Amino acid sequence: MQHFSIWSLLRNGLSYNEGWQKQWRSPELKREYDAVIVGAGGHGLATAYYLAKEHGMRNIAVVERGWLGGGNTARNTTIVRSNYLWDESTRLYEKAMQLWEGLSQDLNYNVMFSQRGVMNLGHSLQDMRDIERRVSANRLNGIDAEVIDPIQIKEMIPYINLNTRYPIFGASFQRRGGVARHDGVAWGYARAADALGVDIIQNCEVTGIRREGNAIVGIETIKGFIKTKKVGLVAAGHSSVVASMAGIRLPIESHPLQALVSESMKPIFPTVVMSNAIHAYISQSDKGDLVIGAGIDSYAGYGQRGSFQTIEQTLKAIIEMFPIFSRVRMNRQWGGIVDVSPDACPIIGLTPIKGLYINCGWGTGGFKATPSSGWVMAHTIAQDRPHYLNEPFSLNRFNTGHLIDEHGAAAVAH
Ligand SMILES: Cc1cc2nc3c(=O)[nH]c(=O)nc-3n(C[C@H](O)[C@H](O)[C@H](O)COP(=O)(O)OP(=O)(O)OC[C@H]3O[C@@H](n4cnc5c(N)ncnc54)[C@H](O)[C@@H]3O)c2cc1C
Repeated sequence: MQHFSIWSLLRNGLSYNEGWQKQWRSPELKREYDAVIVGAGGHGLATAYYLAKEHGMRNIAVVERGWLGGGNTARNTTIVRSNYLWDESTRLYEKAMQLWEGLSQDLNYNVMFSQRGVMNLGHSLQDMRDIERRVSANRLNGIDAEVIDPIQIKEMIPYINLNTRYPIFGASFQRRGGVARHDGVAWGYARAADALGVDIIQNCEVTGIRREGNAIVGIETIKGFIKTKKVGLVAAGHSSVVASMAGIRLPIESHPLQALVSESMKPIFPTVVMSNAIHAYISQSDKGDLVIGAGIDSYAGYGQRGSFQTIEQTLKAIIEMFPIFSRVRMNRQWGGIVDVSPDACPIIGLTPIKGLYINCGWGTGGFKATPSSGWVMAHTIAQDRPHYLNEPFSLNRFNTGHLIDEHGAAAVAH
């Protein structure tokens, strides 16, 4: 792998940038691998990277039905935070935060992680009580979190309208939260995994999962059969479709979730603002566009597009809070397919089938967890047992009833 440094930038700049190598190979599919990951989103690629780097497994493939990072990974609004309510989730998301803080150096790829803070607004006294509770829980878990009042919000964003239909009473603020460049994350993990020998096979849809008795023996793809004893399903919105190929019925519903970006503007928005109550969130990308996320579309579907009234409501709410943006033009709108679990928490771990591992259910908020999701999934696949961080997130919790209800901290918020 060509190393990125100030010297390589200088050298290649002076030679008209003609000497750069391809960032990853397009290898031929081998007939057999030690492990195959289904889905080359951020989570699948991170899993492959940590399998190779931390567990020394090199004969691995990641198979992707489209192009790498073409799923939710490059469709999301890139909000990163770790201020969830329950101990189990806080630990998992905080592990991700710690990995984010060194990720560009680790991958030797600039994922543009920017810790500009994330604000969750409270619009009622009950919202504020919930915020106080969550901030206290965060602090007990060593997470940076504070409650800020309307004056502090106004100091950060002077043009915010606090007296909206849903008046702003205050917010929780996590200063270490922020945003990252979503496709850069997929590319960074892909490049680093490829350098460790991982085969990333694009345009290779998985069509079946073959088992003998209760053990995996391989997967069927449109490019042929791949023999393997370990398969990690990391297919986000298509998780239940892929799992059903192995006869597993997941407690997952797939829904559209939309986002949109405006034309570019000079830097004006210093942080990330989220509001669960009005189902909208907003930040500004380094390129200058306002990045706006909507609430979930309530019907189930695989269309990668949502309904018009959802974004209409989101924009109404944004403009009420930020009237200054009322004449900003919107450039693009799109949808992803989010995999929602009953307790708004992911499912990561073993399945009833030997050699089949699952990572899904991240719903509207999995981007922020990309590094730790890959980290614990790699451990689970390599060791054939969960890492202590993903043990509470087993599929079996829907049998035992040990749910981790994060609807308050997750909901549509990210
Ligand atoms: C509009 C929107 C905004 C969001 N905003 C945020 C946010 O601000 N912060 C946050 O933390 N999260 C956010 N999310 C959620 C986040 O994007 C996802 O939870 C996360 O990206 C999931 O990553 P992944 O790698 O599991 O999934 P994906 O990137 O979707 O990867 C799954 C891959 O599996 C592939 N696949 C599916 N079926 C098959 C098959 N049969 N064979 C082979 N490959 C297959 C797909 O093509 C896809 O590339 C948002 C999501 C959306 C849609």
